[in-house]
Amino acid sequence: MKIICIGQNYSEHIKELNSKENAEPIVFLKPDSSILPKKQPFIIPPFSKEIQHEVEVLVKIKKVGKYISPKFAHTYYDEIGLGIDFTARDIQRQCKENGLPWEKAKAFDGSAFIGNFIDKTEIPNLQDIPFSLQKNGVEVQSDTTANMLCQIDELIAYCSQFFTLKIGDILFTGTPSGVGVVAENDELVGFLDDKEMFRLLIK
Ligand code: ZN
Repeated sequence: MKIICIGQNYSEHIKELNSKENAEPIVFLKPDSSILPKKQPFIIPPFSKEIQHEVEVLVKIKKVGKYISPKFAHTYYDEIGLGIDFTARDIQRQCKENGLPWEKAKAFDGSAFIGNFIDKTEIPNLQDIPFSLQKNGVEVQSDTTANMLCQIDELIAYCSQFFTLKIGDILFTGTPSGVGVVAENDELVGFLDDKEMFRLLIK
């Protein structure tokens, strides 16, 4: 399986990165080796001094598709989840400054934390899913998918032009503002609406 990630999909987050809005979604991949094993803490890797949390709504692909039209994209997923796209921001900055690919900053072991999923029928409006992240009991990120620049179905259509979507692939749909550094012994708790989707320790 593969993980397809969307960058800069919320305008408030683009502002905090001092970046500018792009005409098309920013897409990057994480390999399956980036998945943090279940029930394990996230261990801060030795190569970065600035690992940041990016809470994101996840979509689990349930059938194979290529050149999917936005109209039919909803038939390619049943489950919506929540996870964290851990980012070595210091490394990413170096990569960007030098015009180099981001993989070292985004695709390292453990960088894809995948929390729980729920059936999409439990969500009243997929175009307006509230979600949030607490760090040590304090809310640090909070937004709704209504503020995405590119909505879930359009993202699926867009990505499927380049990559055949396969069963079990996961789409990370981008993070809202409020990204921040994690430190040893931090506890991250993610919510989809008021439902707790994960609880993760940083080591
Ligand atoms: Zn992200």
